[in-house]
Amino acid sequence: MPRSTTRAAAAARTLALLREHTMPAPKLLLHPVDPDTAAIPEDRLARELRAIGLIWGGMPLGKAVFYPVGEQFLQLVTFLGCSPAIELDPPDDPQELEKASAAGRFCHVFISSGEQLRFRGDSQTRTPRCPRCRCPEPEWKTRLQAWQEGKQGPDWTCQACGFCGSLTDLVFRKTAGFSRTFLEIRGIYPAEAVPGPALLDTLASLTGTPWTTIYLRE
Ligand SMILES: [Zn+2]
Repeated sequence: MPRSTTRAAAAARTLALLREHTMPAPKLLLHPVDPDTAAIPEDRLARELRAIGLIWGGMPLGKAVFYPVGEQFLQLVTFLGCSPAIELDPPDDPQELEKASAAGRFCHVFISSGEQLRFRGDSQTRTPRCPRCRCPEPEWKTRLQAWQEGKQGPDWTCQACGFCGSLTDLVFRKTAGFSRTFLEIRGIYPAEAVPGPALLDTLASLTGTPWTTIYLRE
């Protein structure tokens, strides 16, 4: 192999490694549509998800617990497109596992739930719009941050049409959302897969309200 080719290959490999360390994991998140929905305790949600076969067990990973996908995962989550290569098994090596999880290299599940309403969104999310007049809200990041830091309430008024509502009313188009409970399936790229009706029904029956899907990297 010519020297320049070798060098180019080495550079590409370094770049790939670098990207893997800096690139956040692709995720599909599910959460109740209604931001006022009460939190569901993690153990209760995990029990239900084990019962339908979305997950099994529960293994510590850093400060969190991750759930490997269960036997019914591919029946409950529909992958679109023609037979994509989906990695479902966690690596055996603990160090490798941590890296693979951080990069979202295999499908696995996390649950996060708490009393506090939280915002989760893609860093590249597009400017959200008013639910009434559809005008973009250019100040949304500043307003959101003030709310997250407890400096302001969630109240929000559209400068274009005067709609009085809450930050939770902003329309983010599947890249961000507000909730107390998030079910996270890591390792899924935007629109690569969608939750099937059986999974959505299970989640809706837990809260009495429908759930929605967002895609993000974080
Ligand atoms: Zn408006």
